[in-house]
Amino acid sequence: MDPSGQSVSPLEQALHAARALVLADLAAGEVAAADVVSLVEDSVVQRRWWVEQWPDGVEFVAGLVAQDVQDALLERYGRWPLCPVCGSGDPHALEVEPELGADPHWVCHKAGVKVSAVGSLGSAAGGASSS
Ligand SMILES: [Zn+2]
Repeated sequence: MDPSGQSVSPLEQALHAARALVLADLAAGEVAAADVVSLVEDSVVQRRWWVEQWPDGVEFVAGLVAQDVQDALLERYGRWPLCPVCGSGDPHALEVEPELGADPHWVCHKAGVKVSAVGSLGSAAGGASSS
């Protein structure tokens, strides 16, 4: 029961899901500090406006929020998320594919592999971390 009498719109559901997915990936990389969470909030605000202009883009917001946060982190902290697949060589960040599409994934272009869905980095990177 919603006391306001309004149901949650698909837009709000998509934004809420995008926020949760990106926060999960940030937590997996242990960078979910308060100021980083505010970067996610900033992106969600901007993407709400964006989807209001272009409702067909509602499926794309998770990938877009992930890329927004990645860009913001690059300016403040450095590369995120670091590739968990390549054990040697220069540390490098994963990239979101598709850049503008549904069902976004983190991809390592160096190894040419899909690492995980956006929101599932924790399970992708957690295999050997319990020593
Ligand atoms: Zn890699």
